[in-house]
Amino acid sequence: MKTKNLPLLERDSIKALKRLLDTLEKGFGDLPSFKRAKMPSPATERVLVEAAKRLRDNFPYFHPLYAGQMLKPPHPAARLAYALAMWINPNNHALDGGRASSAMEKEAVAQIAAMVGWKSHLGHLTGGGTMANLEALWIGGRVNPGKTILASDQAHYTHRRITGVLGLPFESVATDHRGRISLESLESRLKRGGVGTVVATVGTTATGAVDPLPEILALRERYGFRLHADAAYGGYFVLAGNLAPDTSKSFERLSEADSIVIDPHKHGLQPYGCGCIIFRDPGVGKFYKHDSPYTYFSSNELHLGEISLECSRAGASAVALWATQRLLPLRRKGAFSRMLEASRSAALALHRKMHSGGLFITSTPPELDILVWIPAAGTVSESSSLSRSVFDRAAKHNLHLALAELPTKFFDLAGAGIMRDSETVTALRSVLMKPEHRDWVDEIWRILEISANKESRGKVKQSKQSGRTN
Ligand SMILES: *Cc1c(COP(=O)(O)O)cnc(C)c1O
Repeated sequence: MKTKNLPLLERDSIKALKRLLDTLEKGFGDLPSFKRAKMPSPATERVLVEAAKRLRDNFPYFHPLYAGQMLKPPHPAARLAYALAMWINPNNHALDGGRASSAMEKEAVAQIAAMVGWKSHLGHLTGGGTMANLEALWIGGRVNPGKTILASDQAHYTHRRITGVLGLPFESVATDHRGRISLESLESRLKRGGVGTVVATVGTTATGAVDPLPEILALRERYGFRLHADAAYGGYFVLAGNLAPDTSKSFERLSEADSIVIDPHKHGLQPYGCGCIIFRDPGVGKFYKHDSPYTYFSSNELHLGEISLECSRAGASAVALWATQRLLPLRRKGAFSRMLEASRSAALALHRKMHSGGLFITSTPPELDILVWIPAAGTVSESSSLSRSVFDRAAKHNLHLALAELPTKFFDLAGAGIMRDSETVTALRSVLMKPEHRDWVDEIWRILEISANKESRGKVKQSKQSGRTN
């Protein structure tokens, strides 16, 4: 598990960058050379050393002991492809800004659409999931003007804000004890009418709960609304072969949503700045029509700038995504899907340890790779304060977790004999999104046990500190 003498930060791939730049430059070989400043100048290097030092002020997102929020570095292939593209810096607004990277974006997005089972689609990359959801809800508002947008109370917080920006009414729907949208509450709201779009969250940000698509689709038959699937975090799990049967049933019906958001910068191994929106009906392209005085004229084809709300977008994002998907195709039983499966196995394994350990109360088994739990205590507020101290103590052992304020109904308080003196509880949360996490479950559990044990404060200092503190 622990490997000696390996640098913590992968750097061998950088050697390939020079060779890649040679290959790229050959495409421009008939241009006259031109003068430029020698790089890196001593001043540049000085500034960058300063930057490197400042970047030490981060949690170690790259390390398996970082098991907190949804954060990890991109795949080395994505990092290199992005860097390579930086020497050109294409803009995927239009073909004039980046012919190759625009074509790569279309290919990569078509692969994401194919992953959910779509043979045709309209879609593109965005700056992130928020921008992608904004486009989905904007189209929802164009198709059903003035009608209400519904999402569960565990949906991403940005949906409410986005609808505010769009000037559309928004209402949130209660969730059940597993964090999924309550079908009863949804149906009773639908009966009152005036609903234009329902957002199903396919993997909530807090707990990874998947809203039940088969039942929501049945409600669509009866009540008629647009269905948007916010699968920003969970979308790629459509490829995983080790989901619980009822979670699988939702993923099997994902293709019936009208629009889907999947963030390549969440579980798609990409640098930040890469979300993706896809629509099942390419006809919604008509709503994007605009008249830019800067229109590029090099092609008659609908270019990406004509089907996106954003204008300039990093072509490098498309190059990175294309390269990653070329190396790790979006296939079931492939190397990429095995990474997702490893993450879910890690979450299940840790859940099992917690479930039997007596120190913590878990919620239902994780649907994806996100786990939430609370320390055993007499009351909810005691449990909340213990969560905060476990969070702090674990960090002293280099295990970085997250905290989440959750409804107490997610935990079986009665079964655990915890008195409910508050409606919400501060829970510990862990996103086990790196495939390496599977091999680190025992170590993560060991640190959790030490951190939860009040008698063990003294042991913190004695334990081996593997990470550097400065
Ligand atoms: C992360 C997330 C978002 C927001 O995406 P950004 O890329 O952070 O803008 C939206 N919905 C869900 C379910 C998410 O997990």
